[in-house]
Amino acid sequence: MSLKDIKGQDYTISILRKTIKNSRFSQGFLFYGNPGVGKYITALNFAKAINCKKSDLDSCDKCISCRKIENFNHPDVFVINHEAQKNSIKIDDIRRLQANMSLKCYESDRKICIIRDADKMTLQAQNSLLKSLEDLFEKSIIILTVSNLESILPTVVSRCKLVRFNPLNSEILDKIISEKSEVSDSDREYIINLSGGSLEKAFSLLNDKFLKQREELIGLMSEKKDKLLFYEPDYESRNDIMQILDFMISWYRDILLIKKDVDSLVVNRDKINILSKIAKYSKLDKLIKIIENIIDAKRKILGNANVKLTLEDSMLKICELEGVV
Ligand SMILES: [Zn+2]
Repeated sequence: MSLKDIKGQDYTISILRKTIKNSRFSQGFLFYGNPGVGKYITALNFAKAINCKKSDLDSCDKCISCRKIENFNHPDVFVINHEAQKNSIKIDDIRRLQANMSLKCYESDRKICIIRDADKMTLQAQNSLLKSLEDLFEKSIIILTVSNLESILPTVVSRCKLVRFNPLNSEILDKIISEKSEVSDSDREYIINLSGGSLEKAFSLLNDKFLKQREELIGLMSEKKDKLLFYEPDYESRNDIMQILDFMISWYRDILLIKKDVDSLVVNRDKINILSKIAKYSKLDKLIKIIENIIDAKRKILGNANVKLTLEDSMLKICELEGVV
């Protein structure tokens, strides 16, 4: 794979190619945008293109340099990738980076370090990285990929060239998901609408368990509202709970949008008939209160509150607002 194969980021890729063409590299690059929009894969292929032995504006994918970077055994390209462990990036990781970056180049003109999900850096790690950004050798480049720009120290941000990654558009997501999954057309459309342009989120929603839970919840939120009180979702992680709560928010927001005559923004399009029926007898202020209540539950759970108790409390409030208890 090379830069030309990256989907949905044409403008960003054109900027990176221009950087390579003019050979005007910042010492720090900060790739930012939603999770799952191609930041890391672009960083890796940007590194390949910079160090490629054969091609000028992209990687050839065949030379020894391209192959070594692809296999993570290039002596001049160092990657910190905690994606699998989901751990924070600590000062020891940055020290390893500094040790690596202080060595001379072995096989290429530039040393490149990529820090994936750099928003996982602890404050100490960020302060240590800041020192590296100030003292880097001229031909060294550090690329950070970040989903949450607010978690990066302004002093680190100011030392980097910011490169924005947009959410992926629906056609691209549709094409990728169709190639890799056999989900029905209506489920695919709904998942794409809920994904916010993130391939990572779309794939995390693409599972039978979530789709079944969605149907169960639709039954509860449309016909058996009093049973919401006893709703106990089957979940393994806080992320599963976030998916369920995000879906509930999307449901009530859709009702609100239909009431406001902006049907075109409805996410759960496959359920538009049910939503329209509910919209006829739902009051705006009630919908707003329900949505605020679910957002509050999300905030509490993200802050490590007890999941069961928070959900019970939230469902009780929804039932009270719906007037079924
Ligand atoms: Zn190459």
